[in-house]
Amino acid sequence: MDKNFITVTSPLLPDLDEFHEMLREIWDRKWVTNNGDFHKRFEAALCEYLKVPYISVFTNGTLPLITALQALNISGEVITTPYSFVATTHSLWWNGIKPVFVDIDPATGGIDPDRIESAITPRTTAIMPVHVYGKPCRTREIQEIADKYGLRVIYDAAHAFGIEVDGKSILTEGDMSTLSFHGTKVFGTTEGGALVVQDEKTKKRIDYLKNFGFAGETEVVAPGINGKMDEMRAAFGLLNLQQVDAAIEARHQVAIRYREALRPIEGIDFWDDMPGVRHNYGYFPIFVDAGKYGMTRDELYFKLREHGILARRYFYPLISDFSTYRGLPSATRENLPNATRMADTVICLPIHHELTPTDQQRVLDVVMKKR
Ligand SMILES: *Cc1c(COP(=O)(O)O)cnc(C)c1O
Repeated sequence: MDKNFITVTSPLLPDLDEFHEMLREIWDRKWVTNNGDFHKRFEAALCEYLKVPYISVFTNGTLPLITALQALNISGEVITTPYSFVATTHSLWWNGIKPVFVDIDPATGGIDPDRIESAITPRTTAIMPVHVYGKPCRTREIQEIADKYGLRVIYDAAHAFGIEVDGKSILTEGDMSTLSFHGTKVFGTTEGGALVVQDEKTKKRIDYLKNFGFAGETEVVAPGINGKMDEMRAAFGLLNLQQVDAAIEARHQVAIRYREALRPIEGIDFWDDMPGVRHNYGYFPIFVDAGKYGMTRDELYFKLREHGILARRYFYPLISDFSTYRGLPSATRENLPNATRMADTVICLPIHHELTPTDQQRVLDVVMKKR
């Protein structure tokens, strides 16, 4: 990557010498995967940091979604959002489940609880919402509907690392929540992910499922998969946990600067922090009103590129517009007006722990039409 390019994010990397020391330990132990020492320590440290009762780490953030659906025996139809990364819906498809798209609430970007009930059919078994950009969904209303109809709730919380509402982790909402530790996320292990569950029995079942279903040397209790995280990445994650708070605070400072500079700009909209919420500033989405701003979203996006600023249009296109899902009855633009509008107007500006004031100004100059 050209040193002059400004990327939308940058991976959180541990100190190389400290990482090397941990690699030395792995080499000495000659235990590289299958619930090793670092794996156990990483899970314990994550439970403490995230304030969750049980967690099972995985080799990426997609397998926890697929495994959660397996563990809860989800079938038939699942209500979900089209405004997300495509893995959310793919996890349903890989389980032979029919996705039913419901529009989003423009105030949060998450699924609109007011539209869920009318999408429920006798085949509906679960709801899979996404805390998109780490903004908490309307979890209480979602749970009320789930309880009323006997549905499971699995949150794709890939963006929601460390998010708390009134001091309580958002990851304890619903039946299960999944995390992604991909290099583009606020907290990463290169590739990696996790499944947060609420009781020990379920944790045990998940641990079997991510290891082919093995419950002992010769006993296979379920048709499991290989979702195990190795020792190298568990060590990487342990080190990153020590610096993630500083990284989040550095991102917070970028968000403060962006908001201050962009507030007076006609036709550029963005979100402020929600009261009582601890955010992680993983993304800084802005929404372009072409009429007021005098430029379309795509015109601004390509102008940023011309200036070496690699912003991203997360989440455009909508998942419901991809060829696999386009033909579904719920995939129409008429059914998804808010999601369609958001996908057509969004740009995520560069935000990460190492974005310098000079680079922040370069981004702002283009959006503020100073360049
Ligand atoms: C990143 C992401 C995933 C997938 O995580 P991987 O670790 O890349 O497999 C799933 N859902 C959402 C919303 C994501 O952003």
